Amino acid sequence: MTLKFSLSILIALSSVNIFAEPLQFSLHKITSEQPGPTMLVIGGIQGDEPGGFTAASMLVTNYKIMKGNVWVVPNLNFESIIRRSRGIHGDMNRKFKEISKKDPEFDEVQKIKKIILNKEVDVVLNLHDGSGFYKKTYINRMHNPGRWGQSIIIDQERLDSPQFGDLSGMADNVQQHINRQLKNKAKFFYVKNTETSKGDVEMEKSLTYFSIKNKRPAFAVEASKSFLTHERTYYHLLAVEGFMNELGIEFQRDFEITKENVAKQIGNNLKISLYDNRINLEVEKARRYLNYVPLKKHSSLEYKKNNPLIAVVGNHKSLKVRYGNRYVTSLKPQYFEYDYDLESIKIQIDGIKKDISIGEKINVENDFRVLADSDYRVNIIGFAKKGVDNENDLLIQRKQIKPRFSIDKNERIFRVELYKGNKFSGMILVNFIESDNTQPLSMNASDSKMSSSNL
Ligand SMILES: [Zn+2]
Repeated sequence: MTLKFSLSILIALSSVNIFAEPLQFSLHKITSEQPGPTMLVIGGIQGDEPGGFTAASMLVTNYKIMKGNVWVVPNLNFESIIRRSRGIHGDMNRKFKEISKKDPEFDEVQKIKKIILNKEVDVVLNLHDGSGFYKKTYINRMHNPGRWGQSIIIDQERLDSPQFGDLSGMADNVQQHINRQLKNKAKFFYVKNTETSKGDVEMEKSLTYFSIKNKRPAFAVEASKSFLTHERTYYHLLAVEGFMNELGIEFQRDFEITKENVAKQIGNNLKISLYDNRINLEVEKARRYLNYVPLKKHSSLEYKKNNPLIAVVGNHKSLKVRYGNRYVTSLKPQYFEYDYDLESIKIQIDGIKKDISIGEKINVENDFRVLADSDYRVNIIGFAKKGVDNENDLLIQRKQIKPRFSIDKNERIFRVELYKGNKFSGMILVNFIESDNTQPLSMNASDSKMSSSNL
């Protein structure tokens, strides 16, 4: 059973000075109409554990909660995630017992502690990717009690808490929920009790133990680093769903849960929106570099994104778009003053005139013709005609645009830019769709069509 629903998230970051400010984590409250418990799911406490933070981010982008609430911090150590490091300022998961005020992560740690202690939070889950395979007895170097992978971690059996205090019982149930869905016994999950209060000095410094000490039931989930990211993500989602079942939180997701489907969702549908929708870019299949992107002069970057793992980093000469640990594309900017007056223009698409909002993407089968007012200059990137400076009112076919100017590697999506005098007024994307359905790419085109309304 696959449930489809359109995503409506758009994470606003108003005016971020990306050249100076460190990245901060985001909190996403997925609430429902029906009252019920609230589970806090945290991913990315260590920046090099993509299974955990990808699963957490998918709760934000692919799940709906029907009863109860799920709060998600998918990118706790965001700076380290984006810089592909376990911890650029050391291991954040050892900073919950004591932290120096001078620690660069002091503020972020205080912020997440506050969220953990919020009265509404009933249970805390911290998602990790761990080494090897946890087993109760020693089998070999990678399968033994000292390993962490494929386990649910508790600090102790029980917690004196009004609700959900049977940590061991809940972890057992979730372990069974996961293993029921796995065919291969080698990949089974087991419960690991670190018995932290009995003198585990390392675990005493962890996020989950901070939660436990404050009477807030907490668990860690560890998917094995022996697997690729999508497979780890799949195990994490099974675990999170197991915990939701335990708590009585009801949910829907927009895909059927298999390893293959999880793989398809990762990195799918990535968009950034600049300066109040003057520019919307689909970046999931973007070229390595996008040249001459018209950014706003004398301004910090204003952008929105549709996935919490996206970040734009860099300097005024080159902005890198990253998604979790992955590089997506670089924007090479050209700076302009902006004109915010233009809301929409007329475009004739395959013979039919339509009003198109600035920032929109249009699908074109054969040809298009921009019909802007006379005070605007139209620049179709990759199109050139001798002696023509304004490309308004020209009938344009795909073959007239040089493929290397597309924003995507598939050479289908092109930029149409509008200028008023020296000012940039906005961008429209033209997506050439193929009427031939036998090509696998046309499936992707319809997918992004469905979701393009989000931005
Ligand atoms: Zn970890």
